[in-house]
Amino acid sequence: MSKRDYYEILGVAKNASDDEIKKAYRKLAMKHHPDRNPDDKTAEEKFKEAKEAYEVLSDSDKRAAYDQFGHEGVNPQGGGPGGFSGFGGGAAGFDFSDIFEGIFGGAAGAGGGGRGRSNVYRGADLRYNLEITLEEAARGTETKIRIPTLEECDTCHGTGAKAGTQPQTCPTCQGHGQVRMQQGFFSIQQTCPRCHGTGKIIAEPCSACHGQGRVKKHKTLSVKIPSGVDEGDRIRLAGEGEAGVNGGPAGDLYVMIHLKAHQLFTRDGDDLHCEMPVSFATAALGGEIEIPTLEGQARIKIPAETQGGKVFRLRSKGIKGVRSNAAGDLLCHVVVETPVKLSSRQKELLREFESLSQQNNNPKAQSFMDRVKEFFGQ
Ligand SMILES: [Zn+2]
Ligand SMILES: [Zn+2]
Repeated sequence: MSKRDYYEILGVAKNASDDEIKKAYRKLAMKHHPDRNPDDKTAEEKFKEAKEAYEVLSDSDKRAAYDQFGHEGVNPQGGGPGGFSGFGGGAAGFDFSDIFEGIFGGAAGAGGGGRGRSNVYRGADLRYNLEITLEEAARGTETKIRIPTLEECDTCHGTGAKAGTQPQTCPTCQGHGQVRMQQGFFSIQQTCPRCHGTGKIIAEPCSACHGQGRVKKHKTLSVKIPSGVDEGDRIRLAGEGEAGVNGGPAGDLYVMIHLKAHQLFTRDGDDLHCEMPVSFATAALGGEIEIPTLEGQARIKIPAETQGGKVFRLRSKGIKGVRSNAAGDLLCHVVVETPVKLSSRQKELLREFESLSQQNNNPKAQSFMDRVKEFFGQ
């Protein structure tokens, strides 16, 4: 039976780098791993084939011999058919925990008799929704917020053990937090079932935190809101999230900005919009009206014959955004108001006004009528 070319098995070029070979092997090893393909003979063969190829190509001497003499040059030393020499963990100078980290997503570095990392975790990030007014957003503000959080327990200083006692090293994993289990050909690492990966056993838990080492608390923080913030902006307070586990760093706190609805303005980026009701007499004759801005009242001139829907733009009366160089504008939308609750005298004057009206007083109405006539073909 002729053997397949090692490069072909790994799917790499003849001049592949060590790194490419390692990557290709890892991919195949994970795909055809016996634990992932129980009772699959083909997968097992492929796994063995890949391992054999890797054992040769990852060794520069063997690779050179193979390149020169082919399979003859690297005839395995008394191995079984195909030269497969068993799964001694790490026999090929390749750390199998590498693969397991990929497969099981665990902190595989902790076991195996070495002095690994203990289970240190960063605390969770927290999110706080803060509602502020438009004025506060425009000018910036400083506010105090009270947040629930997990903090290190004062009583046990985070160890989780009752005062005067210490957590004991877990006898099952000798404090590694990981144990090796034999499974088929392989020994794999798992989180220690006794201590759940902490490496410690607490005989007498701290009564304040029930052995958790962290307690729920409220804390009050002062938050500086920069001027110009907008809906959905978030402010990060580093290290103000939940406390870490086993001395890990604390998480961060994110303050999410929400804007309260304003009674006059709506915000669109850096621009502000407002509706400006104008009496129909003022709209017709023109005049001066007062309009609100964030900095107080302003007066603007309304020219005669102003129509509803006209927009007056007041430059730089909007908001200067956090990332903007200049302030936006204030856009005032004219709404011509039809008068209500008319007295009989007012009605009389309006009727007289109407009787004096001419076609060119209402050019829009006239042009509309013309188009209606055209539409009906008259
Ligand atoms: Zn405690
Ligand atoms: Zn343990």
